[in-house]
Amino acid sequence: MQKIAILYDASQAVLSTFDLDEVLQQILTIARDYFHLQNVAILLLDKETNELYPRRQIGWDEGNDNIRLSVGHGVTGAAAKQKRPIYVPNVSKDSRYVSSAAKTRSELAVPLMVRDEVVGVLDCQSEKLDFFDNETIDLLTLFSTQASMALQNARLYSLERQRASQLEAINAIAQQTTAVLDLKELLLKVCSLIQQAFHVSHVSVLLKEDEDLVLRAHNGSLTLRVPEGGRLPAGVGLWGRALATARTVIEDDVKLAPDYIGFYAETRSRMCIPLVSFGQTLGVLVLDSAEMGAFRSGDTQPLESVADICATAIQNAHYVERVKQLAYIDGLTGIFNRRFFELRIAEEIERSRRFGVGMALIMIDIDQFKRLNDEFGHLLGDEVLRQVSSIFHQQLRKIDVVCRYGGEEFAILLSQTNPQHALGVAEKLRRLVETWQFPGVPRPVTISVGTATYPDHGSTRDDLVRAADAGMYAAKQAGRNRAVLAPDPQKSAAHAGT
Ligand code: GH3
Ligand code: MG
Ligand code: MG
Repeated sequence: MQKIAILYDASQAVLSTFDLDEVLQQILTIARDYFHLQNVAILLLDKETNELYPRRQIGWDEGNDNIRLSVGHGVTGAAAKQKRPIYVPNVSKDSRYVSSAAKTRSELAVPLMVRDEVVGVLDCQSEKLDFFDNETIDLLTLFSTQASMALQNARLYSLERQRASQLEAINAIAQQTTAVLDLKELLLKVCSLIQQAFHVSHVSVLLKEDEDLVLRAHNGSLTLRVPEGGRLPAGVGLWGRALATARTVIEDDVKLAPDYIGFYAETRSRMCIPLVSFGQTLGVLVLDSAEMGAFRSGDTQPLESVADICATAIQNAHYVERVKQLAYIDGLTGIFNRRFFELRIAEEIERSRRFGVGMALIMIDIDQFKRLNDEFGHLLGDEVLRQVSSIFHQQLRKIDVVCRYGGEEFAILLSQTNPQHALGVAEKLRRLVETWQFPGVPRPVTISVGTATYPDHGSTRDDLVRAADAGMYAAKQAGRNRAVLAPDPQKSAAHAGT
């Protein structure tokens, strides 16, 4: 009767909380204190691998928590397999016994069952031979059913809470991302929101560009090993698999995946989710963990919902970027327009001032273009404008800015350039146009070029445009088809004064 009272107390205690760790601790303390045991452990079942692993223990072999026992193996494994308590009164005489603590003489393993399913094992060990009498075994078995129920409740509760917090996170991500139209800002936000809400080590966004993937944004605690903005081939690695199948790919241990390509030093497991919007694959969302097996195939759904939201937001940002870009592109020639020129010349001057380097402005005007139109028609004139633009575009560095300034006039910004180099570039362009065979035009097309440089010809946009214009005018005056460095403003001023 007294034992029944103990059992009642014990059940009350384990069922009084929903916190998994508290439940486990209660079970262990009760087993130790009420049943006078020296060593008690709770092993839980990993359903995916069908292995038992120690989840919490008290007694002498505390900290001995790296073992994994397959179901059927050892005394605990046998209890899990046979779904009944197994008592070994003398462990040295039982071949099933796997030693975990030197002092153990007798062991009782009681399966923790919910309905007909094993969720774990309560493992009780004593330093006395044949310590457990029938009554104790019965009571511990009864207690274990209460303990299983408490465990199950705690698990359901934590799952429920996790679901609720993930739902909240998805909602927050949806609300916070749809308003951001700047792509860079959006991607950073996505990475940090996902990292916080889903507790992963690192979140990265790889976006498709031509045939490659580019690491566009990332957030987390791992050490990056490739440059930001670095290009990665799209067809390889786990992301290659995710892209090819349009499905989420999980790798529990990246060291075992032959096609794994890492970009953080500490990654042990990885999940890749394709970013797909309206049937178009935009890239991959990559989650990395420093722990093995951090991602469960059953848990992908909330993250896939997040990936869908992100893909739509990225698509919107792309669209906005494209519209913005179109506003700076000249429709006839495909090079930048006057509006972009005004934006960039201010930026270039500011940058040159800050870093103390020179820059150049080249102004170009096609010679006798009105006559060319009159002789060969406007359509051919348009084609000449396109080809001249393409010559300039191809001849210059990526960092140089080629713009159609208006009509048959072009403006080119060269960064980190001195007057001699600028004049050299101008002369090269002049020669190229002069010798170019324009289809349908039986004579050479020529240009007049004026160059001005910062800080030699001034330090404002107006100074530089005026100076380059003056150079171009001088080229026309001198008979066209030439490149001229703008006159030195000090000398011109001195000249004007005399
Ligand atoms: P100069 O050597 O002095 O520069 O003579 P020009 O004939 O080139 O100079 P002007 O400024 O008198 O004429 C520019 C001509 O460029 C007039 C205009 O018809 C033509 N033009 C401007 N924009 C376009 C265009 O988009 N397409 C075509 N086909 N012609 C254009
Ligand atoms: Mg003109
Ligand atoms: Mg002209």
